[in-house]
Amino acid sequence: MPDQIADPSDLRADCTRCFGLCCVALPFARSADFALDKPAGKPCPNLQGDHRCGIHADLRQKGFTGCTVYDCFGAGQKVSQVTFDGQDWRTGSTEDARRMFDVFPVVRQLHELLWYLTEALGLPAARPVHPELRRALEKTERLTRLTAEELAALDVAAHRQEVNVLLLRTSELARAGVGGKGQGKGKGRRRDRRGADLMGARLRGADLRGVSLRGAYLIAADLTGADLRGADLIGADLRDADLTDADLTGAFFLTQPQVNAARGSTGTRLPASVSRPVHWTAAR
Ligand code: SF4
Repeated sequence: MPDQIADPSDLRADCTRCFGLCCVALPFARSADFALDKPAGKPCPNLQGDHRCGIHADLRQKGFTGCTVYDCFGAGQKVSQVTFDGQDWRTGSTEDARRMFDVFPVVRQLHELLWYLTEALGLPAARPVHPELRRALEKTERLTRLTAEELAALDVAAHRQEVNVLLLRTSELARAGVGGKGQGKGKGRRRDRRGADLMGARLRGADLRGVSLRGAYLIAADLTGADLRGADLIGADLRDADLTDADLTGAFFLTQPQVNAARGSTGTRLPASVSRPVHWTAAR
């Protein structure tokens, strides 16, 4: 009997099936992203008894931009409904609540890996590694269904490293042959911008097709009208990056939180895996 595989919709937050875990388990600090300090394990003052946010419609106006950027990749409903079998932290024991808050970040990391693995299995160019990707997907899904004790003891960094090797190979296969003449001399170097410091960089109209921007710092970079088709964006920091009219069609390993943290417009072309943030259209 093949392993249970996550439906892609299970890799997006479904707050209706969660106990507001991101609003309790995680700490945040008063900053441009949050209007107040909150320690881990303490509910946000805006969290209501029904586990919904009381200011959801005005998060940005009320100084909680960070909440509009965050996404749990479905870990919230997994921990609430599967790990704790629908047991609410408000009505359960203090010990159970603590365990729930401890495993939530672990399951979020696993669900983020499920997001990348699911996307990698959808890339035809990565067919040579599909069997290994499929096995990694099944193993990761199995790990998300461990008990709270087992999850708390899990070496998630080691598993992440194991999956990362496969994602790197996927990236090489998916980017091979993508990209124009513009990248001529120094083509190798130009195509590999992993971890590059591109903070505030002027990349307006840049040809970044098939480039690895894995873990690149693109904070407040101007990518207006840039061509990012087929680029690898895993872990790229896009906070306040301007993606107005940029083309990210076929860009991969891009997540909703990355998109939510950036700026864009109705003219920005996004890959099918992510949706256009409400605040993009509101702003332009
Ligand atoms: S402001 Fe709302 S979404 Fe943000 S942590 Fe508080 S309850 Fe959650």
